[in-house]
Amino acid sequence: MLNFDTMEMIAEGNTKVIYANPEDAKSVYMVFKDDITAGDGAKHDILEGKAAVDWRTNRDIFEYLNRMGIRTHYLSSPEEKVSLVRKLDRKINLEVVSRRVAAGSILGWGNVNEGDRYDPVITQFHYKDDPLHDPMLDDGYVDYIIREKGSTEYAEMRQINEAVMIHLEKAFAHFGIQLIDFKLEYGIIDGQVYLIDEISGGSFRLWPYKTDNPNLDQANVLPELNPDGRLDKDTYRMGEDLDKVINKFEAIANITSGFEDL
Ligand code: 5GP
Repeated sequence: MLNFDTMEMIAEGNTKVIYANPEDAKSVYMVFKDDITAGDGAKHDILEGKAAVDWRTNRDIFEYLNRMGIRTHYLSSPEEKVSLVRKLDRKINLEVVSRRVAAGSILGWGNVNEGDRYDPVITQFHYKDDPLHDPMLDDGYVDYIIREKGSTEYAEMRQINEAVMIHLEKAFAHFGIQLIDFKLEYGIIDGQVYLIDEISGGSFRLWPYKTDNPNLDQANVLPELNPDGRLDKDTYRMGEDLDKVINKFEAIANITSGFEDL
């Protein structure tokens, strides 16, 4: 067993703690916590067992993405609730959201109906700042810095987000689940953009298919899906009982355990 009492704590966030790896300056330990938050920290609970199930989901997803050739910080999961990841040189202070199907905050934009399908997927950058509620960057501004300032970082984050959407959507489809949207984060390691952070029950929306063979080739796919059967953190955001929330997170971990065979 690793002894974190003797290790230097580098950072503590809402859902995990980062420790320096005493044996390797180029990697750090990421230890999952039972905390769950929503509404930019306004809602907070301790959900017993969440760290262990999120750790499983995160492990299965990152190992799958690594196999698919996505450049991620993930190295291994040496023991329950602990992942070993590459140490960052610089964190990029953005949340990068990709959407296949309209749900959540995009419904407030007007002229968007729940279930509208985006093909290609849409990707948006949010400045990570809880008090400001993670404001979205203007797409025109992002295009401008890619084009005029020669920034390859934004272009790479967009490209990786879209590749991850395609891979994970395909993986969840094997289990009769539509990946609706997700949020990813990035950092720089050795001058290159890497997918970092965790991908777990709170990172995405997952809605089961209504039938075995849904027709997803439509402008709006809501009739083909069952949002009431959602498996994700929206159950918590909507005020569901905590024991139901942990059951959903466990169901996600049970699904991603099947990614090994894909
Ligand atoms: P929305 O903008 O519709 O609220 O969220 C889009 C997607 O990004 C959803 O899958 C949601 O779970 C995820 N997301 C957005 N903001 C956050 C955040 O601050 N933390 C986490 N974990 N996920 C987020």
